[in-house]
Amino acid sequence: MSESGREAPIGVAIIGGGPAGLSAGLQLVRANRRIAILDSNRPRHSATLQSHGFLTRDGAPPLELRRLGREEFEAYPTAQFAQAVAQEVVPLSPDEAVAAGFPDGIGFRIVGNGIRGSADVEFIARRVLIATGLTEQLPELPMIRAYYGTALHSCVECDGFEKTDKPLVLIGETSDVFSRALLISRFSSDLVVFTNGADTIRPDQESQLAAIGIRVERRPIDDIVGDKADMTGVRLADGEVIQRVGGFVRPRWHAPVEFMGELPVERDDWGLVVTDDRGETAVRGVYAVGDIVPPGPQQLIIAAGNGARVAAKLNMDMIRGALGVGLVDE
Ligand SMILES: Cc1cc2nc3c(=O)[nH]c(=O)nc-3n(C[C@H](O)[C@H](O)[C@H](O)COP(=O)(O)OP(=O)(O)OC[C@H]3O[C@@H](n4cnc5c(N)ncnc54)[C@H](O)[C@@H]3O)c2cc1C
Repeated sequence: MSESGREAPIGVAIIGGGPAGLSAGLQLVRANRRIAILDSNRPRHSATLQSHGFLTRDGAPPLELRRLGREEFEAYPTAQFAQAVAQEVVPLSPDEAVAAGFPDGIGFRIVGNGIRGSADVEFIARRVLIATGLTEQLPELPMIRAYYGTALHSCVECDGFEKTDKPLVLIGETSDVFSRALLISRFSSDLVVFTNGADTIRPDQESQLAAIGIRVERRPIDDIVGDKADMTGVRLADGEVIQRVGGFVRPRWHAPVEFMGELPVERDDWGLVVTDDRGETAVRGVYAVGDIVPPGPQQLIIAAGNGARVAAKLNMDMIRGALGVGLVDE
């Protein structure tokens, strides 16, 4: 990198170095593209020590998976990995893009602030791939963070197996709590669903849950209680403690794309970034992948697979753009 921190033009600037961004990056450097990944190193799953269900890596620490992924990406000569927080994505004018060597007149300037002593970065790229994952807000209970990632989890597919036949909670204030309760019932029917005062389960759904032995508790929660590192229950605002050893919580998620400024990124009702089936957002040349796109948070292997799929679409978009043959065959 030059002293100004400005890089030669690259194919795709990938914002986010989780499984989605790293997997896309690996596919694209293997397509002989110059690729830059900017990563702020704040993955949502850092709360946990083990990740499950990633074929060949079941039980591996999630940070280990990221380290291996980064090493594989950086082994290619056209790969650049910057520890930086993307601050701004600005489209080039068609003339600027052509002058930068981008034949289809589409290009972007991406600016990032270096973290952990790394330099600030600025990239000029033909395409942008947003792979920032989500930030999450847990229900406002003072001790919930202390048990999140150990006793309490958010991904039922990822951590349900370890909860088999245990006395569990599901804490959620959103309208998808009913279907989550059904999913958890596969692991344990000793389940209490806490809505924390929210009116998010209909009476007919409550009856359906009752039929399989699951109770809905609508009273507000005061806090999670435990004995040192072990969760032991949920204390309600009226003081009653319901004994439970762990379970699931439904956070609220936020798609962090503030660096897109006024660019018209379309969102769905949950705030997730909408793309077409090739992974392109409503902003031409900007793609999105991983947890940040509908249906929202899933699993490491799905994010990685999604990254590989969208990388292929990006590569083809750039081939077609250079030749002026349109996005798809008519
Ligand atoms: C507690 C917990 C446990 C989990 N356990 C499992 C499990 O056992 N098995 C499983 O398969 N899945 C698990 N998951 C889900 C899994 O972690 C996610 O589905 C997956 O990480 C999503 O990948 P992603 O690449 O879309 O996003 P992330 O992994 O969240 O990566 C996004 C990256 O983008 C970076 N970023 C964000 N904004 C910027 C910016 N402005 N500039 C630069 N970089 C930015 C972040 O720092 C982060 O490194 C778990 C999730 C949580 C929260």
